[in-house]
Amino acid sequence: MTGGAEAVTATREVATHCPYCALQCGMTLRATPEGKTEVLARQFPTNRGGMCQKGWTSAELLDHPDRLLTPLVREDGALRPATWEEALDKIAGAIGRIQDEHGRDAVAVFGGGGLTNEKAYALGKFARVGLRTKNIDYNGRFCMSSAAAAGMKAFGVDRGLPFPLSDIGEADTLLLVGANVAETMPPFARYLTEQKQRGGTLIVIDPRLTTTARQATLHLQPTPGTDLALANALLHIVLSEGWIDKDYIAARTTGFADVRRTVASYWPARVERMTGVPVADLEAAARALASGGKTIILTARGAEQHAKGVDTVTAYINLALALGLPGRPGSGYGCLTGQGNGQGGREHGQKADQLPGYRKIDDPAARAHVAAVWGVDPDELPGPGVSAYELLDSLGTPGGPKAMLVFGSNPVVSAPRAAHIEERIRSLDLLVVSDFVLSETAALADVVLPTAQWAEEDGTMTNLEGRVLRRHALREPPPGVRTDLAVIAELASRLGTGDRFTTEPRAVFEELRRASAGGTADYAGVTWERVDAEDGVFWPCPSVDQPGTPRLFVDTFATPDGRARFLPVEHRPAAEEVDAEYPLYLTTGRVLAQYQSGAQTRRIGPLRKAAPNAFVEMHPDLAARLGVEHGDEVVVTSRRGQMRAPARLTETIRPDTVFAPFHWGGAARANSLTSDALDPTSRMPEFKVCAVKVELA
Ligand code: SF4
Repeated sequence: MTGGAEAVTATREVATHCPYCALQCGMTLRATPEGKTEVLARQFPTNRGGMCQKGWTSAELLDHPDRLLTPLVREDGALRPATWEEALDKIAGAIGRIQDEHGRDAVAVFGGGGLTNEKAYALGKFARVGLRTKNIDYNGRFCMSSAAAAGMKAFGVDRGLPFPLSDIGEADTLLLVGANVAETMPPFARYLTEQKQRGGTLIVIDPRLTTTARQATLHLQPTPGTDLALANALLHIVLSEGWIDKDYIAARTTGFADVRRTVASYWPARVERMTGVPVADLEAAARALASGGKTIILTARGAEQHAKGVDTVTAYINLALALGLPGRPGSGYGCLTGQGNGQGGREHGQKADQLPGYRKIDDPAARAHVAAVWGVDPDELPGPGVSAYELLDSLGTPGGPKAMLVFGSNPVVSAPRAAHIEERIRSLDLLVVSDFVLSETAALADVVLPTAQWAEEDGTMTNLEGRVLRRHALREPPPGVRTDLAVIAELASRLGTGDRFTTEPRAVFEELRRASAGGTADYAGVTWERVDAEDGVFWPCPSVDQPGTPRLFVDTFATPDGRARFLPVEHRPAAEEVDAEYPLYLTTGRVLAQYQSGAQTRRIGPLRKAAPNAFVEMHPDLAARLGVEHGDEVVVTSRRGQMRAPARLTETIRPDTVFAPFHWGGAARANSLTSDALDPTSRMPEFKVCAVKVELA
């Protein structure tokens, strides 16, 4: 790694965190006098000195030839370099014209779950105060929103893990639902090894025999889209065997009777027919979960990314409550957050229905509190907008936004039904993308703003445990590059509200503390000094003399009566089931060496070498039926589009299901196929199951 914006005369290093996933592994970044940037793994409570290949190679993007170093504006159909003044003036002028003609809501903002807390906060404020548009949402809607909604309903609060990660290695029984941590966050897998070495039982529910499922004591391999029925069957067995925790249910919960009635019809033989999971395996799983030791149930995208994702997660929460797990030391239910700041990114206002501190934008008291911090009249704040997919789907339509500003996201690759979404994005009068490389979305923009990378700015992130962490800058951004906070402040200034925005991340965090005070995600007592000194601070932390809250639910839940809520949920088919025309299920996911839409990791040599292209994974029996051999190019078609990639034959997948990773664009874009059916509560799309056919190319 060579280069760096600053001339380095002596070795300089900072303690920071990986730019990618929600594990936020601790790392040391070192700038050497030879001009290199080195990455060293650091002892931190979550990664304990481990990192994956993505973390090790993360500095390669800092001085990558693809790095954007000057703004670009579109002229005669092509992007050309421009000055910052020209680019920002062009954006502000176009926003003014569009809002004059079509109203405030004609300008939309699309954020990301990788943005720091400060940026997510500033972006939400910019939308409501600078643009005064209701139309803001973010890509976290595609990742974590179903578990968030289920957690809010059951517990009154949404924090991915309500306990420290270290509990996981201590669990006697651990159930992972739709989580392939060995590939998505490898250092996490060490906790699985520890758990197993201590004699614990690991149960994995996944339609594929993933790297994680290979480590399991028991692997349940259901038909895609049937995880909810499976959870209800486990609860059915627990009930019939008398393994429920009656005292806990009586003292700490409400609504059990309705759930008991609902799961009565999920007897194991029926659920075996629905899911394909043998009765004996269902019984063995239920017995292990109810063994009486420390038991943890964790869900991830495999359970969530369905049109019934909230209900599916709720079914596993019901199971956890019936066993008396949440709040019991060493036990509990949790959701594994995916994106780097997936947790903090959903707390401070870039969601359509939300104000900072996890406040609701339609709550008058919340509006009054936040408006006072922002120095505006509460009546001037817009109301709730629509969710990410609905927002993207409405772009350029009559009454829909005519302009969109994108920060930290690449929806052309990551949105479901992506060809349609790409068409909607192309129909905009103004598309602005702030990014450090020319992503597939940036390539369509009218204006591209080159932005700083993680090693070039300070800030905070909140990891999968709800632990607020410090990101420390190693160096200044290269000449020509500005931070997202600077972009927001410059645009606000041109739009007449510059006095309300700052480019300083610390000042933004101080304001965030005030805005979040008293909210569900209360950061009032979190200071940058404390975060540095204490290896992070867990929210809620309402005052500086409060230690933070590593464990939630020990005595009470965050509901009005302090009790957790059982909620009855029924299985229903996927929005699109297989039929004669499209006879196979498609499920999508990630591979170890790539991250999200791949805009960053696809540019890093060792990662490209490890995972050079997309593929279509299928069972050899299916391949034989289709006349496909390993490595043959295949075309996968759904009702929404096509993708093309080489076949990868493996016996680890069900013969009725094919799998494709979603990190690639162009002809290999898996999201060309995926369904835009949305969960009715979280509005999360059904990425995990749709009907396809596969043909030899
Ligand atoms: S991608 Fe995740 S698991 Fe890998 S080093 Fe970064 S934070 Fe750790």
